[in-house]
Amino acid sequence: MNNIGVLMTCPMSEYLENQLENRFNLFKLWNHSSPNPHFLETHSSSIKAVVGNTKIGADANMIDSLPNLEIVASYSVGLDKIDLGKCKEKGIKVTNTPDVLTDDVADLGIGLALAVLRKMCVCDRFVRSGDWINGDFGLASKFSGKSVGIVGLGRIGSAIAKRAEAFNCSISYHSRSKKPNTNYKYYSNIVDLAADCQILFVACALTEETRHIVNRKVIDALGPKGILINIGRGAHVDEPELVSALLEGRLGGAGLDVYENEPNVPEQLFSLENIVLAPHVGSDTEETSKAMADLVISNLEAHFKGKPLLTPVL
Ligand code: NAP
Repeated sequence: MNNIGVLMTCPMSEYLENQLENRFNLFKLWNHSSPNPHFLETHSSSIKAVVGNTKIGADANMIDSLPNLEIVASYSVGLDKIDLGKCKEKGIKVTNTPDVLTDDVADLGIGLALAVLRKMCVCDRFVRSGDWINGDFGLASKFSGKSVGIVGLGRIGSAIAKRAEAFNCSISYHSRSKKPNTNYKYYSNIVDLAADCQILFVACALTEETRHIVNRKVIDALGPKGILINIGRGAHVDEPELVSALLEGRLGGAGLDVYENEPNVPEQLFSLENIVLAPHVGSDTEETSKAMADLVISNLEAHFKGKPLLTPVL
């Protein structure tokens, strides 16, 4: 397979780079695009696979510029950076990395909720700064037993539900359809879900339908004691509305792993103590990044050996 051209869109995992380099003719887009803007024109015909991620996937321009592209293998479960319509139209296969990252993302979601409610980052600063000498920290808010709402009861949403159940939280959810195999309370309307829960987790796929699914109405329904946790995608939330609700005290707090314009985060958030911010690291553990890379490689090998894909999207 050493003569098969594989284009990696941006740095994502050194291990994945090495594995790809050992098997394929690897092109690293970031080494070529600025010194040689004509890189794609020169090498386009030899590239049969694109490996993308949550930063740079495969948009219509990239797909159109690669006449022999057969497969897009995403080092992510989210597909929002891939033009799926274009891939379908051109018969290009698409794979992603579901399941292997579910635990990590759910763990981080619960961790963010705990960190916001128990003020863990503020506690940490309090101890390090020596302020404890001057008096006790004060009270935080309990996580166990709170009512949890989940937007998108898929793999990650279900894993969050399972974890929250162990904390004696009641679980309800919103998605396009009621799930048959669960007793969790279903809401066909996200505003009603937000009004009836204390912590709202966003774990759905980003599509045109779910862009800004958390808007001012949803934020106001969650209210001044409500907590928003977003481990989905930044664009699920209307960010200016979130910032103003937090600044005006119309929302109780937030735990965010994702933002609308990463890596840019609204600076007004930095001074707030009722929020915890993570730099889109939901699946970023040593163990999971290796499992994701192995899945990308296995999908590419299966494709080029004419075998069924392990995790096909298209
Ligand atoms: P999944 O199993 O496909 O679940 C996605 C869920 O979204 C489905 O249950 C689906 O339910 C729901 N959904 C789709 N359209 C909807 C709509 N219009 N309204 C409400 N719900 C809708 O995917 P997953 O593996 O759990 O991953 C979910 C998302 O997490 C990914 O797409 C990705 O964006 C994000 N993610 C983030 C990180 C991170 O690092 N923070 C890491 C991995 C994944 P219905 O079909 O019933 O509507």
